[in-house]
Amino acid sequence: MGQLLSFTDKGIFCEQGDFYIDPWRPVKNAIITHGHSDHSRLGHTNYLTHTDSTPILKHRLGTISVEGIKYRESFFKNGVKVSLHPAGHILGSAQVRVEHKGEVWVASGDYKTGPDPVAEAFEPVKCHTFITECTFGLPVFRWPAEKSVIEEVESWWRSNIQQNKVSLLCAYALGKAQRVLSLIDPTIGPIYVHGAVHSINAIHRDGGFLEEDFPYLSNSIDKESLRDALIVAPPSAAGSTWANKLKPLSVAMASGWMLLRGSKRRRNVDRGFILSDHADWDGLNAAIKETGAENIICTHGYTDQYAEWLRYIGYNAYTEKTLFEGESIDENVAKE
Ligand SMILES: [Zn+2]
Repeated sequence: MGQLLSFTDKGIFCEQGDFYIDPWRPVKNAIITHGHSDHSRLGHTNYLTHTDSTPILKHRLGTISVEGIKYRESFFKNGVKVSLHPAGHILGSAQVRVEHKGEVWVASGDYKTGPDPVAEAFEPVKCHTFITECTFGLPVFRWPAEKSVIEEVESWWRSNIQQNKVSLLCAYALGKAQRVLSLIDPTIGPIYVHGAVHSINAIHRDGGFLEEDFPYLSNSIDKESLRDALIVAPPSAAGSTWANKLKPLSVAMASGWMLLRGSKRRRNVDRGFILSDHADWDGLNAAIKETGAENIICTHGYTDQYAEWLRYIGYNAYTEKTLFEGESIDENVAKE
């Protein structure tokens, strides 16, 4: 039988159902896994996504025709049964399950198996073929516990206060910033956010996913009120003229890449915290095992290496090229 989902120059295509999943070129019907910009692009005629992703897509893409559905709510499109399931990556992130004539495929988008106060926990979905990301698909990537990372952030902040430095924490404006803001102890000092984080925070607050309204750092704020402050800003803020005006300061980056020696230096930050919104090596392996799938398609990250590992342990695994980026902390504001 033909492939239920195939990889075309426009994106992941379901021919039978006449829709694409996270297409990178304009199409008629797009099912969107989540609001990061490498997965939700401009130019599609009809968007379908999780209800919690609809305000994010509207915020990022402007006036679009978008329909939101809940997790596990299914519908039929030309005889193909479609449903969304939690991916644990960011607010509203979803895996897409498609079923036709007893054949089940799941496209995971981006996912994480660890905890996150603002993302519903990853749900393993049984399928025959699982399309996985492999952003961190090497054994070196194993995440420390979220709690211990947040404690490290807090002690870094306290020590900056003692040294009269402002603390600037760089994290994706969509997802990671809200995760950190939900977990950090707000009694240590005042917390401000960059404008890009502030607008995404508002969407989370409207949905009841973030309690506090952290003030936006405007130009008019005098330096004295920033004493003892933690500022949460997108990765692009590191080394920017915007950030330099805040000196004396200590700059930190929250990313899975901070596990690698040298990635801090490359990004010109003083401190790295290992916090990712993607699955680590153990998370990927556990997630794939729980799907029960025999066929695994690796789409972004360490795809060739990870597919080789999966073949070694008995899966029918291979790589397909996509335009998904995974976790990037280099020169782009793609995720913001
Ligand atoms: Zn993502």
